Amino acid sequence: MTENKHNPLLSVHDLRTYFLTDDGVVRAVDGVSFDIHAGETFAIVGESGCGKSVTSFSILKLLPYPPAKHVSGRIALHGQPLLDVVDGSDTGLSERQMRDIRGSQIGMIFQEPMTSLNPVFTCGSQIVESVRLHRRVSAKEAKAIAIDMLNRVGIDEPEVRFGDYPHQMSGGMRQRVMIAIALCCQPELLIADEPTTALDVTIQAQILQLLSKLQRESGLGILLITHDLAVVAESAHRVAVMYAAHLVETAATDELFAHPLHPYTKGLLASAPRLGERKSKLDTIPGSVPNPLHLPSGCAFHPRCPIGCNKPRCQSETPPLVEVSPNHHVACWEVDLGEKETKREGREQDLGIKRLRDDA
Ligand code: ADP
Ligand code: MG
Repeated sequence: MTENKHNPLLSVHDLRTYFLTDDGVVRAVDGVSFDIHAGETFAIVGESGCGKSVTSFSILKLLPYPPAKHVSGRIALHGQPLLDVVDGSDTGLSERQMRDIRGSQIGMIFQEPMTSLNPVFTCGSQIVESVRLHRRVSAKEAKAIAIDMLNRVGIDEPEVRFGDYPHQMSGGMRQRVMIAIALCCQPELLIADEPTTALDVTIQAQILQLLSKLQRESGLGILLITHDLAVVAESAHRVAVMYAAHLVETAATDELFAHPLHPYTKGLLASAPRLGERKSKLDTIPGSVPNPLHLPSGCAFHPRCPIGCNKPRCQSETPPLVEVSPNHHVACWEVDLGEKETKREGREQDLGIKRLRDDA
């Protein structure tokens, strides 16, 4: 492994993951790129079916091959390529090498902890098993690590709860156990795919706070996958909005919420329920997510877009993701020029100030 301070923790470049099915090619992820740094929570948000989980499973190379195929892409952890597609085939790590990475350098938690925990073993023994799979420690040491982890994820009386079976725990407790299993081998990256979706709002907030606490303690990088903007607002440093297999906007979380630029992002934000307000889901974006077997031409959002639905360019050419202000990228031919100009002026002012400083 090459150590390089300038390498991001995880870099994903031009990832294309397709499913070659009898009905045709499902372009589940189509040209996605992003970086995640140590200590950072990077969220991917979008409606169901847009390709979020296929992105996370691609990083772990945990898809059924075939029908899944990585048509292009380079995914590197600390600069070490996990996936590296050259001339249509993956020259990255083998399945055996990936097994060493999963659960040790990369931890993962998913939506439904009941299905990921084995009902016939105690929660404690499942943590111990994970510890012993990846760390050379005695059974006694592994048990001590497991109890310490149960304590760190906020489970009271960890010595007692160590012996509980999954069905003896609540959904929130089981998700804490899953986090303990994911983190007991001290991974550098945690992939959390809808980690709080099955939980009620109060428990959801507790789990998100727990993840932030563990992140502060360990410098963990987190890829947080969610359909829920409230979860993003609560815990992500940066966010990418995904629509129909593409990232359509990326920005720091505060910036995205304050200055959304893509019409889809604006629609998502407008339709997100606010505290104490009841609203049906996504009622301001007409239509639904397109079938990935038959993606619309041009910008995949154009049939639902209030601005681009009648514009020839939106109908025929896919807009690239471009930086419109520092660290704010958007893929849209019709980004509101008023907003863009204000941003550009702002940036030029910043540069002017910098220049004055340089002269001084
Ligand atoms: P989400 O954003 O809800 O996590 P997914 O990443 O799970 O969406 O799915 C993206 C697209 O890939 C969906 O259209 C889904 O139907 C398709 N897909 C996922 N797995 C398979 C598979 N094994 N075979 C065919 N299509 C699949
Ligand atoms: Mg999913």
